[in-house]
Amino acid sequence: MSDSRLKRIGVLTSGGDAPGMNAAIRATVRACIYHGVEPVAIRQGYKGLIENALEVMNARSVANIINKGGTFLKSARCEEFRTKEGRAKAFATAKAANLEGLVVIGGDGSFTGAMYLEQEHGLACVGVPGTIDNDIYGTDCTIGYDTALNTVVEAIDKIRDTATSHNRLFFIEVMGRDAGFIALNTGIAAGAEEILIPEQENNIDNLMTELQNSGRAGKSSSIIVVSEGDASGGVFELARTVEKRCPQYEAKVTVLGHIQRGGKPSCFDRVLASRLGVAAVETLLGGESGVMVGVRDQQVVKTDLDRAISKQNMIDSHLMRVAKIITV
Ligand code: ADP
Repeated sequence: MSDSRLKRIGVLTSGGDAPGMNAAIRATVRACIYHGVEPVAIRQGYKGLIENALEVMNARSVANIINKGGTFLKSARCEEFRTKEGRAKAFATAKAANLEGLVVIGGDGSFTGAMYLEQEHGLACVGVPGTIDNDIYGTDCTIGYDTALNTVVEAIDKIRDTATSHNRLFFIEVMGRDAGFIALNTGIAAGAEEILIPEQENNIDNLMTELQNSGRAGKSSSIIVVSEGDASGGVFELARTVEKRCPQYEAKVTVLGHIQRGGKPSCFDRVLASRLGVAAVETLLGGESGVMVGVRDQQVVKTDLDRAISKQNMIDSHLMRVAKIITV
């Protein structure tokens, strides 16, 4: 592989940041060097590609970042890249810098941009899934998801300490606009009484019935984990409605927000990011592009970018059943 015709590969992080992105950049850079390719880092995602914010890396440029959250290359949302003209500018930078391949670490928006860049200009692109939401088809886990789960569980554990000291209902909103992966998994792990996710029709009457049952079961307080994409009208509205209909409870709302994106990446995310960074470079060196690298059943797999973007990861119905059973 080291005699590949590719001489320079670019790497960027784009869209929402996620813990573990640094580990993915590091692996990409070092895999390039291992294979005799010159790695070029692009700052601020596609914005940096348009504005020529490029820097040639060496193995030491990515020292001491594997343990850091966020992305040291910074990420950005770039409206200009959504236009053909913007992508033409980005390609002009790539061409001038002799980039023959591009590793895009990000979510499905970033992959859509990468797909257009390749289709319109022929620049070989490979996607690496980095987002805490785990909502990308073609991989069992995205980089950042495991760290976010651990952060959320730790926060809910703390809230439980205070919840059990009073007759309180705690509504905890977690990230996941389109997918309930974070809510379902953290709800189970933190012993939530109820879990509300976008994939499920959660009407308030059902929730009330469950709450009344838990009252009969002797529970004096409850933790309800709500995915931000749940259709019940938002966590504050939900709390107000329940308080009105269940006046014996005092309802409290916690929106965990951006703490879920931060923090040191977990061991799992660092390993995942390292595997996928290496896989992305080796995919390009093998002459493949227009794909996302992911992990399914412990194996590295590739999925066409258009499939990764258009298909959805389904929530595990067995896990939903488990959640139901363990809250009796
Ligand atoms: P994520 O990659 O986390 O889903 P975004 O949806 O914000 O995050 O996308 C990140 C960037 O990718 C955008 O700022 C834009 O530059 C680019 N992008 C997103 N959607 C498209 C699109 N449909 N066409 C071209 N570029 C896009």
